[in-house]
Amino acid sequence: MSTRNYNFSAGPATLPLPVLEQAKEEFLSYPGAGASIMEISHRSKVFLKVLEEAKNNIKELLGMSDDYCILFTPGGATMQFSMLAMNFLNGKTADYLHVGSWASKAIESASRFGTVRKAWSGKAENFVRLPKDSELDLDPNAAYVHFTSNETIQGIQFLQEPDVKGKDLFCDASSDFLCRPTDISKYALLYAGAQKNIGPSGTAVVILRKDLLDRVPENLPPLLDYKVLADNDSLYNTPSTFTIYMIGLVSRWLLQTVGGLDKMFALNQEKAALLYDTIDKSQGYYKGHAVPENRSIMNVAFRLGSEELEKKFLAEATAAGLDGLKGHRSVGGCRASIYNAMPAEGVQALVDFMLEFQRTNG
Ligand SMILES: *Cc1c(COP(=O)(O)O)cnc(C)c1O
Repeated sequence: MSTRNYNFSAGPATLPLPVLEQAKEEFLSYPGAGASIMEISHRSKVFLKVLEEAKNNIKELLGMSDDYCILFTPGGATMQFSMLAMNFLNGKTADYLHVGSWASKAIESASRFGTVRKAWSGKAENFVRLPKDSELDLDPNAAYVHFTSNETIQGIQFLQEPDVKGKDLFCDASSDFLCRPTDISKYALLYAGAQKNIGPSGTAVVILRKDLLDRVPENLPPLLDYKVLADNDSLYNTPSTFTIYMIGLVSRWLLQTVGGLDKMFALNQEKAALLYDTIDKSQGYYKGHAVPENRSIMNVAFRLGSEELEKKFLAEATAAGLDGLKGHRSVGGCRASIYNAMPAEGVQALVDFMLEFQRTNG
């Protein structure tokens, strides 16, 4: 096998190695199918079992009740920005927490389908922090409140849901889905593009409280209608079968190999602490983007003293097998994405590299 880098890319992102190995093993002939999982009908018994397992694993990981359904939708998280607004904003008013770049995109998309209020905005502060509950300006008539649980670009994360005073809470959890135990009963709708924490790109996992389906307006395009997708168990058309298969494997890995979300959360916290400690002990050589209270345990955004030094850092890191560390162009600098599948050894290798780089370029 050719060597694999430690891949710190924000997404599509690193997947668990045992999952890739199993997919490789089953690639030509999925057990019981006599063909690749990509080559069989999405309505076959074999695939229906794969779909069922993916849903059941997620349900078990989150301890979800039957009041919710799980959908696999085309178009990633970006499609959800519009789809949820077509289904639930639909000419009304909704509150959005404007906490970073992805929240901006969600707002821009939803604005086409109704009135979007910003219940709080961190834009003037360059999105370095999240609001306290007391700072939220909520509209009692809002159809829902939308927030981004982890801002992938700025590296800030809600480790507790905002208090939205009983309003229906909608969440873009693309870059921190299944990174910690989550009480789904606090949410009305939660969605995640698969390619950060749960599988390959092109699909979103949507968790939806079933009573919301009664609010879906008539005559939406069928693929953009949650009721149609729910009534057809995500099989209204041919879904991305391979992606759903991979989501099944990643969620099984979380359950059986990692041992559930409590364990995953502890591991994620340890990995993040390693990196943030290195930043904090560097005496300003490395500077984190986020305020310490709101630091993300998934995306660690940091800068060095100059753009020139950052270029050197990134080039040498890549040469050392530590790839994907370039920050998003809107923030600049560096970003280490350390999702569930990034092993602790990868983070340790990055920390060792950072210490050595500072020593030789201090
Ligand atoms: C990556 C990302 C998206 C966009 O996901 P796509 O699948 O590319 O549409 C949306 N929100 C967040 C928080 C993300 O990290």
